[in-house]
Amino acid sequence: MNNIPAVMIIFGGSGDLAHRKIYPALFNLYRQGLIQDNFAVIGTARRPWSHDYLREVVSTAVHEFFGEVNEDDLAAFASHFYYQSHDVTSVDHYKTLKKLASDLDEKYACQGNRIFYLAMAPSFFGTIAEHIADQHLTGTGFNRLIVEKPFGTDLASAQVLNKQIRSSFNEEQVFRIDHYLGKEMVQNILPLRFANPMIKVLWNKDNIKNIQVTLAERLGVEARGGYYDQSGAMRDMVQNHIFQIITLLAMPEPSRLTDQEIHVAKEALLDSLVIPDEAAVARDFVRGQYAGTETTFEYVKEPNVDPDSNTETFVAGHVEFKHGPLAGVPIYFRTGKEMREKKTRIDVVFKGQRSLYGQVADNTLTIEVDPTDQIYFHLNGKTIQGGDLRKEKIYYRFSDEEQAKVPDGYERLIRDVFVNDSTNFTRWNELRQYWKFVDAVEAAWQKQNEAGVKPVKYPPYLLGPAESKQVFQDPGDSWIYK
Ligand code: NAD
Repeated sequence: MNNIPAVMIIFGGSGDLAHRKIYPALFNLYRQGLIQDNFAVIGTARRPWSHDYLREVVSTAVHEFFGEVNEDDLAAFASHFYYQSHDVTSVDHYKTLKKLASDLDEKYACQGNRIFYLAMAPSFFGTIAEHIADQHLTGTGFNRLIVEKPFGTDLASAQVLNKQIRSSFNEEQVFRIDHYLGKEMVQNILPLRFANPMIKVLWNKDNIKNIQVTLAERLGVEARGGYYDQSGAMRDMVQNHIFQIITLLAMPEPSRLTDQEIHVAKEALLDSLVIPDEAAVARDFVRGQYAGTETTFEYVKEPNVDPDSNTETFVAGHVEFKHGPLAGVPIYFRTGKEMREKKTRIDVVFKGQRSLYGQVADNTLTIEVDPTDQIYFHLNGKTIQGGDLRKEKIYYRFSDEEQAKVPDGYERLIRDVFVNDSTNFTRWNELRQYWKFVDAVEAAWQKQNEAGVKPVKYPPYLLGPAESKQVFQDPGDSWIYK
């Protein structure tokens, strides 16, 4: 599909996300012809910028992302950008915005199509959505809303936000973005599971012992202490990225590869999500806080962090479903800041068995999502000298040339919005289940706080606290990624 006409309105047009991700993504979509002559982008934010200034910002953002580009293409692309200074709480500003959008619609023949992108602080999402409705900003063609994360801070606030958004958009028009779903190897989970008969027949509770998802961040909270201290790893990472990955790993096979059917399969799985009670949280979850020495970082001494904070910068635990191919199989996860290296990977542990060679080790299938995109299998085979067994890896990976062509997640996901494919966005029914789980864990931790139980401290540059091995149900199990 090419040349999809639309006026896109970006709330937060002067922000970091627009600069680093959205503008470069749109430029690449323009180079590919997805958007051509019939589009306009309105950047709105508080600052009093001119159209020309925004165009300069867009050009700079594109250069920063791609380096050298065809300057004629870039100038033509940037000429479609317009700026409107806007306070999201002022009704009058929506009136001006509406007028600008309809003028640009006419100028560029956008057929009444609108894409609204909420790329600013989440506390404004609801207000903007309501004003889009009460000031009738929607167009006469298609209307789509892209919402950044986080979508709420717990189930109750997410429900309020959802209601505000649904005042002007129906569920099919809402694209809740999670850039992990735009990542190459996350998008490769379903083909890996369902396009390989060998893997497909083994992907069940009889053969898979456990799955381990690690999402390690090298950095600490940096300048985001104020936000992070109210959030923590559970809300910041598990509620969205980790749950998205787990859902793809555990969902049943969809009847067809359409966005509708994929969401049906996801929802069927998530309805059977086991919500942990207080005792299960105490037994099966480990929360930690990084605490270095003088030369490294200590969370409670970071700027804007409460010195008595109980906020977790690390969490390990597990997710379990009652239904689906992996019913009852523990899917362990851990995520944290100030870890040894930036790494997102999934280890699928196939059960070891007794064999002619005695008890053989588990086979593991590893999917590396970040920073490299690759999959490998550990196979057991004979040593050259014979006698013993050894483990070797077989790889699915890209050449450097192919790796360089992997598009950024944002580009993929924004393309999906233009072509109306919601496969890689979060539906409300899915999000609701994620929040139920997170709320249950947070409530149990709140009780622990009241009882004076604090997160365990862990030294930076490792893989979190040593206690994280306590999450395994079988004491013989351990983290594959060490
Ligand atoms: P930012 O602080 O850099 O930008 C916020 C934008 O909102 C600015 O353009 C600012 O002018 C505008 N704004 C603030 N108050 C306003 C008001 N009253 N009226 C009008 N405009 C106002 O934030 P960001 O990093 O770009 O993040 C935006 C959203 O994207 C957040 O929801 C964030 O969680 C999400 N997000 C960001 C990143 C990232 O890499 N930056 C990654 C994932 C998700």
